[in-house]
Amino acid sequence: MMRIIDELRDAESIAISGHQRPDGDCVGSVMGLYLYLKKELPGAVIDAYLERPADIFGCISHIEEIKSDFNTERTYDAFVALDTVPDRMGGASDIYLKARKKINIDHHVSNPGHGDVSVVEPERSSTAELLYELMDPEKIDGEIAKAIYIGIIHDTGVLRYSNTSPRTLQITAELIKFGFDFSQIIEETFYERTYRQTQIMGRAVLESMRLLHDRCIVSVVSRRMMEFYRVTSKDLDGIVNQLLSVKGVDCAILMHETGTQEYKVSMRSKGAVDVAAVAVKFGGGGHVRAAGCTMNGTYRDGINNLCGLIAEQLRDK
Ligand code: 5GP
Ligand code: MN
Repeated sequence: MMRIIDELRDAESIAISGHQRPDGDCVGSVMGLYLYLKKELPGAVIDAYLERPADIFGCISHIEEIKSDFNTERTYDAFVALDTVPDRMGGASDIYLKARKKINIDHHVSNPGHGDVSVVEPERSSTAELLYELMDPEKIDGEIAKAIYIGIIHDTGVLRYSNTSPRTLQITAELIKFGFDFSQIIEETFYERTYRQTQIMGRAVLESMRLLHDRCIVSVVSRRMMEFYRVTSKDLDGIVNQLLSVKGVDCAILMHETGTQEYKVSMRSKGAVDVAAVAVKFGGGGHVRAAGCTMNGTYRDGINNLCGLIAEQLRDK
């Protein structure tokens, strides 16, 4: 397998980025690689670009160095895209397009490959796990380890989802040898919720409905609701998983309003439904059991369109 450093050794300037609304895997991967390259290539300019990460990721060292203003005159020698396709980079996509060498590292089955060097391994639990394999383990320190650990923990639901492999566990075993307080990290970055996050979760659960003979559960969060509870998109993480945990449900959908007749859709499946295939039909992507897309129109039309495709998949199961 390639080593990331061999692709970057000659670069004097390197930009690292991920996707819009960065999740734990995205933030952990970007920061893990950022800290690694700062150490390995001390003479190079290394910049990490990402929308401002949620406050819970404040435990990652140097996270305040992330640039969330994407305006730059610089043309980078290399750009490393983590956990994303160019379409989903938001403000960083112009920096990507201008960069001389483009490197794509991802684990999404919906990533068709892009750039000059492309490493996409859908069987990997997380981009963070894949990134670990591209690093020299001797060069990893406690701070890098913590960032990668957070990436793996978040994309595996704390080593619980079916994407967790023996290799995932071997890598996390190596990582926790650095001695950081993994128990506290799991509690504070994964499980802990603010009161307002808990309230909107309760509201979304309360107002959910089951469709397709109770095999699909759907909830919609409007902008008014989000204003009432004073929450943003970031505060809705975990709700769709909560919906999926209902007994008998095969598939869960959470839609939240992001603009006029615009909804961000999060889907989860227990395995019978391939939600990535559904998301791709609407310009999104993801994994078999976790995927998303953005839909325009009323939420009723959105639900009808999504459920039509899900019903087709469930028909012979
Ligand atoms: P979430 O529902 O947590 O936002 O996303 C679930 C999975 O689907 C994640 O792996 C995420 O990267 C992917 N995903 C969510 N929304 C989109 C989208 O609009 N486009 C693509 N390509 N992937 C998405
Ligand atoms: Mn990921």
